Amino acid sequence: MNYEFSESFARELDAQDPLAHFRNRFHFPKVNGKEAIYFCGNSLGLQPKSAKDYLAKELSNWADLAVDGHFHGEDAWYHIRKKSKPALAEILGAQEHEVVAMNNLSVNLHLLMVSFYRPTKERYKIIVEAGAFPSDQYMLETQVKFHGLDPATTLVELKPRPGEHTLRTEDIISEIKKQGNSLAMVNMAGIQYYTGQLFDIQAITKAAHEVGAVAGFDLAHAAGNAVLKLHDWDVDFATWCSYKYMNSGPGNVSGIFVHERYAERPDLPRFAGWWGHDEGERFKMEKGFVPMYGADGWQLANSNVLALAAHQASLDIFQEAGIENLRKKSEKLTGYLEYLIEEISGKSGVLEIITPKNPAERGCQLSLLIHRGGKAVFDEFYKHGVVGDWRNPNVIRLAPTPLYNSYLDVFLFAKILEQSLDKFA
Ligand SMILES: *Cc1c(COP(=O)(O)O)cnc(C)c1O
Repeated sequence: MNYEFSESFARELDAQDPLAHFRNRFHFPKVNGKEAIYFCGNSLGLQPKSAKDYLAKELSNWADLAVDGHFHGEDAWYHIRKKSKPALAEILGAQEHEVVAMNNLSVNLHLLMVSFYRPTKERYKIIVEAGAFPSDQYMLETQVKFHGLDPATTLVELKPRPGEHTLRTEDIISEIKKQGNSLAMVNMAGIQYYTGQLFDIQAITKAAHEVGAVAGFDLAHAAGNAVLKLHDWDVDFATWCSYKYMNSGPGNVSGIFVHERYAERPDLPRFAGWWGHDEGERFKMEKGFVPMYGADGWQLANSNVLALAAHQASLDIFQEAGIENLRKKSEKLTGYLEYLIEEISGKSGVLEIITPKNPAERGCQLSLLIHRGGKAVFDEFYKHGVVGDWRNPNVIRLAPTPLYNSYLDVFLFAKILEQSLDKFA
C-alpha cells in the first residue's frame, strides 16, 4: 500500500472504507470540549450507543418479571450464557461449546490453571514472556507457590535478544524444546500488552504439545483485535477480557476457551460451582458434581445478566462487521499510522516503533519509544484531544481500532504529533 501524508488522502480512504459507518454506532469522549481522537481501545473500548437499550431491556425484564425472568421467554436468564456464544465463537475461532462468558480475566486464568497446571516432580516448569502484564505475573507466581514450588526455578521467562524489543518465534520454540520433559505449561499473552507483538499461537501450541506440555493464552489484547483460530490451532485453554477491543464496558465479563478434547473430561480437576453442574439436574440440589459439556463445565456462578447485556450490544456489532473484515481494515489503518509516524520521525529518530513491522506479528496497536521530549509530548497531544496511553519510562501506545477509528483520525493525530514534537522534542 502506498500511503500519502495528506488530509485528502485520508478522507479518500475513509470514503472507500466499507466499515466507516460503524463509527457512528459509538460514543466518543470529549477532551477539552472537543470530540477526542481515541486510540485507547487497547485499554477501554468505546461504548456502543446501543448498550443503553440492551441494558434497559434487562432492567425492564427485572422490573416486570422479577424472579420469573429466569425462565421467561427466549432470553431467559437461566440460559442467557448461550446468547453470546455464536459471536464469541467467531471472534475466538472456536466451537460454541468451547467458549463461555463468565467472571473476570484474572479469576478465569486461575480457574483454568487449577485444571491445566498440574505440576509433577519431573514436569513443572512454565514458560512465559518476560515483562508479562502484572496480573499475569502475580497469577503465575502464586499458582506456583500454591503447588509448593519456587517461582525462581519454575517460571522460565523469555526475553528478547540483546538490542531487540520483541521475541523471535524460533527462540520461543527452541526454549520449549530445551525445557522438554520438565515443561508443564506455556502460558503467554496472545498479543503482548506492552510491545503489541502478536505471537504465533499455533506454532507455540504445536511445540508445547510436542514436548508433552499444555499451551494456554491470555488473549486480553488479542480478542476482537487479531483473527484467532483457537480450535484449529489446538490451543488447550484461553481467557480474555471484553472491555478492551470488545467494547463491553469497564470491568465487564471475561470469557474462557477450553478445547473440545476436554469437553467430556469430568476427571479433570477443577474448582466447581452450581452453574457448571449439569443444568438439567441443577435444581435437584443434590450432592455429586457432574460438569456440563465443554467450557460451560467451568462456570461457577449464575450469569451476570446486566453485564452480559452490555457485552451483547458490542458482540452484535462485531458479528455485523465481521472479524475478518475488521482485520483487513485494521492492517491498513495501523499501516497508515506507522507510515505517518515514520515520516514525522524521519532521520531525527525521535520516535522508534518497537511493535513488529510485519502485520502478521501485530494487532492494531503500535508501541513507540520516544527518545526526546517524553511525557511532555504525550501530555501536549492529550491537550489537543488525542487519547493514547503512556507507560513509563518512555513508551506511548496507540491503538487505532477498525470499528470506530477513521483514517482521518490517524491523519489528524499525525499533525498534532508533529506539532507536539516541534514544541517539546
Ligand atoms: C487487561 C489485562 C488484564 C486485566 O485483568 P482483569 O482480570 O480483567 O482485571 C490481565 N492480563 C492482561 C494481559 C491484560 O492485558
